[in-house]
Amino acid sequence: MSDLLERLRGRGWRMTSQRRVVAEVLDGEHVHLTADEVHVRAAAKLPEISRATVYNTLGELVSLGEVIEVSTDGRAKRYDPNAHRPHQHLVCSGCGAIRDVRPQGNPLSDLPAEERYGFTVEAVEVTYRGVCPSCSA
Ligand SMILES: [Zn+2]
Ligand SMILES: [Zn+2]
Repeated sequence: MSDLLERLRGRGWRMTSQRRVVAEVLDGEHVHLTADEVHVRAAAKLPEISRATVYNTLGELVSLGEVIEVSTDGRAKRYDPNAHRPHQHLVCSGCGAIRDVRPQGNPLSDLPAEERYGFTVEAVEVTYRGVCPSCSA
């Protein structure tokens, strides 16, 4: 389970009501929300929260390393609180549902030396695509 709120408290992050609402919206498992989705959900809890505050808070959480930005569809960036366990994404081509997955091999070391072209390879992003159970029913 994600413990974003706890991690932020542990770091002594100044917890205003606006920041708390953003962190609450992002807390949980398999959470991958666009900034606009975060704003809609945050505003449902705290109507006066502005889009700018949501965007700034997201930027801060990313620079703290507590939330990562992912882009699984090449369009909107999504915000993911699962920042401390390396994982890849499984995406439904029907409804866009996203799951955090951990392949058994290490995709980083799976790239053979002759395919590295002298690069120092630091990170890898793999997106598995398919159809989720509700879309295939
Ligand atoms: Zn689906
Ligand atoms: Zn994820």
